[in-house]
Amino acid sequence: MAREIGPVCRLCRRSGEKLFLKGSKCFTNCTLEQRNSPPGQHGARRRKLSERGAQLREKQKVRYIYGILERQFRRHYAEAERRPGITGENLLQFLELRLDNVVYRLGYADSRAQARHLVNHGHITLNGHKTDAPSARVKVGSVVGWNPASLNSEYYKLMVRDIQGKAAPPWLSRDPQTLSGRVLYVPTRAEIDTKVNEQAIVEYYSR
Ligand code: SF4
Repeated sequence: MAREIGPVCRLCRRSGEKLFLKGSKCFTNCTLEQRNSPPGQHGARRRKLSERGAQLREKQKVRYIYGILERQFRRHYAEAERRPGITGENLLQFLELRLDNVVYRLGYADSRAQARHLVNHGHITLNGHKTDAPSARVKVGSVVGWNPASLNSEYYKLMVRDIQGKAAPPWLSRDPQTLSGRVLYVPTRAEIDTKVNEQAIVEYYSR
């Protein structure tokens, strides 16, 4: 359940780029566009990063984007390393298949943080069962839907209105009637739009 706390715009300022952690607000009122300097007392200028520093920054960036603390991120990485295939791609696939991310990708939430909140509060079902674990891995063929008890909530009504303009990625299907979603296949790297150099993360952990 643990997550990064504190003002999330600081994370973008630290990374030096927009990480879109606040959903639609990032398009209308972005702090980074107004103040593009690292946070903190000594953050007035950006220092040139060493190779190691750049690798660390990529790793932190992915953690911030998916809202994961270091310990859990390391677990994902260790599993990605054990799997056959390209470690960096495996890692991103694991992150994409987290329940909170699938909820976000299906358009149920404006940001991953909001998706996480929906899962934590029991609004989401996985294969028909209520689950409150945002880190649950959604398998191919699994169905993500809404808890029937949440269908009368104000949030759900607004979501039904707003979701029409949001397309799900090709690896997910969304039922137009029930809005439940299904994972059709594991996304390829080309289908994951997260702007990150995953190879730098592999190099960071390989030292
Ligand atoms: Fe980052 Fe969004 Fe804050 Fe801009 S508004 S700094 S993109 S979280």
